[in-house]
Amino acid sequence: MYRTFNNGFLRLEHINQEVTLCGWVQKMRDLGGMTFVDLRDRYGTTQLVFNMEINSKICELARQMGREYVVQVKGKVVKRSAPNKNIPTGQIEVEVSDLKILNKSKNPPFTIEDETDGGDDLRMQYRYLDLRRSVIQKKIILRSEISFYTRSFLKKEGFLEVETPVLIKSTPEGARDFIVPSRLNQGKFYALPQSPQTFKQLLMVSGFDKYYQIVKCFRDEDFRSDRQPEFTQIDCEMSFVDMNDILTTFESLIADILFKTKGVRIGTIPRITYDQSIRDYGTDKPDIRFEMKIKNLTNICKGNQFPLFDQADTILGIVVPGAAGLSRKKIDSLIDWVKRPQIGATGMIYCKFNHLDTYKSSVDKYFNTDDLASWKEFCEANDGDLLLILAGKEKQTINAMGQLRIEVADRMGLRDPNLYKPIWVTDFPLFDFDEENKTFHAMHHPFTSPKEEDIELLVSHPQAVKANAYDMALNGTEIGGGSIRIHDRKLQNQIFNLLGFTNEQAYEQFGFLMEAFEYGAPPHGGIAFGLDRICAVIEGVDSIRDFIAFPKNNSGRDIMLDAPSKIHDDQLKELGL
Ligand code: ASP
Repeated sequence: MYRTFNNGFLRLEHINQEVTLCGWVQKMRDLGGMTFVDLRDRYGTTQLVFNMEINSKICELARQMGREYVVQVKGKVVKRSAPNKNIPTGQIEVEVSDLKILNKSKNPPFTIEDETDGGDDLRMQYRYLDLRRSVIQKKIILRSEISFYTRSFLKKEGFLEVETPVLIKSTPEGARDFIVPSRLNQGKFYALPQSPQTFKQLLMVSGFDKYYQIVKCFRDEDFRSDRQPEFTQIDCEMSFVDMNDILTTFESLIADILFKTKGVRIGTIPRITYDQSIRDYGTDKPDIRFEMKIKNLTNICKGNQFPLFDQADTILGIVVPGAAGLSRKKIDSLIDWVKRPQIGATGMIYCKFNHLDTYKSSVDKYFNTDDLASWKEFCEANDGDLLLILAGKEKQTINAMGQLRIEVADRMGLRDPNLYKPIWVTDFPLFDFDEENKTFHAMHHPFTSPKEEDIELLVSHPQAVKANAYDMALNGTEIGGGSIRIHDRKLQNQIFNLLGFTNEQAYEQFGFLMEAFEYGAPPHGGIAFGLDRICAVIEGVDSIRDFIAFPKNNSGRDIMLDAPSKIHDDQLKELGL
């Protein structure tokens, strides 16, 4: 046997046992007569002790080792005279009687420690060494566990895992496709799936009424820290369901994952409509770990000759609880923050509802204490609270206020990393209207069904049509989304037309699906969760990168492989390129 135990296992109860361990040399301390070595594997570290007096030959051999050597040792478990309370094996050490160096190692280019000295690029170039660090290993292990919990939950619910092809024709999720040239069909190209959307709908037509797949999706988008060009979705579809069935099924999945990974019980997940979400939180992915809902002050703030308010379409406020004492400096720094181009506000008005009814605002010239008191009452603020106000064009102000709400909560420590608060946002608009080009885009994707009661608006007022579409947000991040689909060919055709496809274009791109709808397509709907995102949100971090064993860097490159890279002329010729 190569090893009888792993390096995270041995405790006081194993004292006097003869054991065989394998692993990597994490650290060595040579004290002359004794050499101590920390032996590491993915389960933990165990301290080895080599004693010159007991076995000088292997002690000499041990001294020749370096960091990251791979070794096998045999020895006896003994009690440590100076226990290390910080690690689970800290009560014991192994007195080594035999040592075999299984492989040498060059000195690694950065330290294999939780706090490493390696920069981003270096760690990505040697990702296999980076993956030896226990902080990263924990993330990969968490991901594996979440996949496993997902599979076992969905299996229990009767879902079948079905694989769909990777070399396909373009799928419309709104991003650019990655394209693969075909050697056998020169001048023709495959696209990599942005999602298995059309296939999962076809599987419903085939009668596999509960489908899922943990699947790679590919989108050729510009970089953001929570995006990667290839990422993994938990992709699901069901037949004979309405929106409520989908939400109920999948909130149980998320509850199960959160309970098993974090021991949290989330209860019923609240549901709000898209309109309500925008109104109360200024975003369609609200963080509801804290209140601070947006108040619409447009009607009560206008009319005092204050130009910023009088010229604004919308005046919005948030009440920051207990923040009336915030220093001028801190408020100024928030004002600078809202003026950044990404937020785009021209300024920020504040009003402090100090105790003892002394109210103070940055617009005292225009508004007296009675005005401020009416704001306070309208906003249901308390003494000691701070009111922050933004005013301007409607869309931009809502957006800026949504971001300010998050920023303030961050600065006030209101986004508790130990709280998990998912929320469903439903009834998204069916279309996004592009003012500039006067065109409609599908807000989710073109297969999303309009709400039954809105179908007649498709002709008269498409902007107002709401969809049977829903997202789940967790702590302010969208982790999943889906919709009830259209299963009627005529309606699907009407939507394609509204999206600017002629009948011929729609048929060319989606003819296979439209035809399938003519052979008894059942009512169906589904959802996809971002697996990488779920991992990152559960761990309370922005970047999904560390949850992917071999991610791409900021410019979509794999530095280790040096990909993408040039290909040989012969290959190009073969492909007819
Ligand atoms: N295919 C959709 C997406 O990738 C999810 C869905 O509608 O099920 O966002």
